[in-house]
Amino acid sequence: MLDISIINAYSDNYIYLLRNEKKNITSVIDPGEAEPVIKFLNSKNLHLDEIINTHHHNDHIGGNDKLLDVYKSKLIAPSYEKNRILNVDKFVSDNETINIAGISTKVIHTPGHTLGHICFYMPEEKCLFSGDTLFYLGCGRVFEGTMKQMWLSLVKLRSLPEDTTVYCGHEYTLANMKFANYIDSDNALLNKVSLEIKNKREEGFPSVPFNLGIEKKINPFLRADDDNFIKSIGLSSNNATESFGEIRLKKDSF
Ligand code: ZN
Ligand code: FE
Repeated sequence: MLDISIINAYSDNYIYLLRNEKKNITSVIDPGEAEPVIKFLNSKNLHLDEIINTHHHNDHIGGNDKLLDVYKSKLIAPSYEKNRILNVDKFVSDNETINIAGISTKVIHTPGHTLGHICFYMPEEKCLFSGDTLFYLGCGRVFEGTMKQMWLSLVKLRSLPEDTTVYCGHEYTLANMKFANYIDSDNALLNKVSLEIKNKREEGFPSVPFNLGIEKKINPFLRADDDNFIKSIGLSSNNATESFGEIRLKKDSF
């Protein structure tokens, strides 16, 4: 059984600290900063065995070097970003099964936000670390890939079991929620979830993690192939990639 802790970094990044007590392994996903991770580990008297990166952006790898220096951890990163992440011990690729914190984990390549972005799915723990691909009620900006790549990446994540718990890379939820409600105001489930999110944030708690099954019904970016939804928001296209692209552009300028 895995113990997952959420560590805040920068203004809205989430770093995930994974602790497998039974096997005595501690891992961190996307340490954008080292200090908050070191502070957390010190408070629990833990060593850091593994560092895992989803993609090369500095707010996800910025703490790598310092942590490697202090703990001599093993660094695992996407093979597709070989030249953009330094000091990597193990490169991983799509569909590969690896161990993270001693837990069997499937690597899922999700190009779009960056070309080499990967996500991590743990079937036994029923959890997904989605980096900057899937956010709560949103998705990452399409920086390096095409709209088509990003859409297909989201479809891959959407096909995971309904009872998957998703841990994403940023606390962007309130802004995403605003946009989702703007284009999908009649969605009763979205209204209900929005209230829960608002309460959590007002009390100072992270909005994450979230449930994938519910997300499929309320995240507009996961619904670009839902004809009724697409019609209801005034888009005419019956091409999911185009619809996704239009929703993404709408959000970019929202
Ligand atoms: Zn990023
Ligand atoms: Fe990021």
